Amino acid sequence: MKIVPLSAFSDNYIWILIEGNRCVVVDPGESAPVEDFLAEYGLTLDAILITHHHADHIGGLPALARRYAPRVIGPDDPRIPGLSQSVGDQDRITLELGQRTLHFEVFAVPGHTLSHIAYFGEGLLLCGDTLFSAGCGRLFEGSPAQMHASLKRLGALPDDTQVCCAHEYTLSNLRFAQTVEPDNPAIVERIAQCKALRAAGAPTLPSSIALEHQTNPFLRCAESVVQASAAKHARRVSTDEVETFAILREWKNVF
Ligand code: ZN
Ligand code: FE
Repeated sequence: MKIVPLSAFSDNYIWILIEGNRCVVVDPGESAPVEDFLAEYGLTLDAILITHHHADHIGGLPALARRYAPRVIGPDDPRIPGLSQSVGDQDRITLELGQRTLHFEVFAVPGHTLSHIAYFGEGLLLCGDTLFSAGCGRLFEGSPAQMHASLKRLGALPDDTQVCCAHEYTLSNLRFAQTVEPDNPAIVERIAQCKALRAAGAPTLPSSIALEHQTNPFLRCAESVVQASAAKHARRVSTDEVETFAILREWKNVF
């Protein structure tokens, strides 16, 4: 199976999973780039996976559904129109992609929005706006404790899981990560790698769970150096994991 991050808007990625001439599309915020891609490579759209209701993730849904009539799978939320199947935590889904059958498990990951879900399977994590490379989504609907718990679950996935985030935010996230942890060599190395990728016009994604554990401050809230940095920023004596997460998220909002 091949995976392609298709650029949309200014910094979104619409992930496309391809097997032979069949494909699955994740979070089509707009339809035109998907339609062009399908036409260019002669692909049939079998299914669409949705992670959450924001317009930059579902905007292309009506047009794609009309034109290709795929299965449309997403979280149970009235703000997402046109689902053929709604799924929730620990549901398992099977997608027939030509000769190949894909299996995914659904994780409820509240935080960015309350009904946000992620899909894990085939060595991939399709995590929408929950986990970004070196960062995480803003808390529009959920609490810090909810988002922290969601990220913990994603962080418990196998190290070699390919992390397919929905935005190219990596370099700006890494600038923040380096402010939190100036002495983390993995962050220095990742910045150099991502600068080279962006200069060549390439995505910094997919990332991996292992890389995120090394460089993502929001997955590193149990590390004493990250806790100390958050405590210093918030002028507190000490912090626990969730409080550290909450401080980092607010700090990042104004960074
Ligand atoms: Zn979003
Ligand atoms: Fe988004």
